[in-house]
Amino acid sequence: GATLSRIDKSFGAAALFQDFNLSVGDGEFVVLVGPSGCGKSTLLRLIAGLESADSGEIRIGQRRVDHLPPGERGVAMVFQSYALYPQMTVAQNIAFPLRMAGWPRSRIDASVAQACELLGLDTLTDRRPAELSGGQRQRVAIGRAIVREPELFLFDEPLSNLDANLRAQMRREFAELHARLRAPTIYVTHDQAEAMALADRIVLMREGRIEQQGTPEDIYHRPASLFAARFFGQPP
Ligand code: ATP
Ligand code: MG
Repeated sequence: GATLSRIDKSFGAAALFQDFNLSVGDGEFVVLVGPSGCGKSTLLRLIAGLESADSGEIRIGQRRVDHLPPGERGVAMVFQSYALYPQMTVAQNIAFPLRMAGWPRSRIDASVAQACELLGLDTLTDRRPAELSGGQRQRVAIGRAIVREPELFLFDEPLSNLDANLRAQMRREFAELHARLRAPTIYVTHDQAEAMALADRIVLMREGRIEQQGTPEDIYHRPASLFAARFFGQPP
């Protein structure tokens, strides 16, 4: 799992997080929701090491990681705009982080083949991103994340660029993938159906704080505040 303890983070004079705490259990799928600007992406960026906290501690597995560079934290992050390398094939895109990490060729090939099979990309390995659909590109981005065998997955609105049908399909694929990999995951979305379908636990954020957290059933049927009730569209 992973734990954030007593995180402080300000941008200039504006404090976003003050004494923020969150943990994700082994195999747990946590979905982060909350209004625009409440700090969801910043939280993921802090965990991934793309942003540094002013103070506090971040642990992933047994290790304290907050002083490590992104590549050594054991996390993989997938963004909304999953920038693939346009000149590289599917297989080369997925292999890229492993090549950077200096893995031997045979091990890279085996991992890439395994990821492609898992994600239904086996017949597309020689295509370039321009020759793929949105959902297929998204799967390549996920493939690039899973080959590193991260201890923690971070997803920042990974499906928001896809149309509704594809989103529903990819949502099912996320659920299946998680059932197979059982890696702890923090997943940010604006889509309530996605949150309800995927989450073991939903964490509702508001202005850098946790407003409420619980199972999808809890949070939907027993909102603890007017804010939570409004956010989930339930009249109080
Ligand atoms: P959205 O749902 O719109 O993606 P979010 O919850 O992901 O929103 P963040 O991107 O984490 O929100 O931003 C949280 C707050 O921190 C916002 O007020 C934002 O303007 C501010 N912020 C984020 N990054 C920076 C930065 N590099 N410099 C200054 N302010 C920042
Ligand atoms: Mg965001």
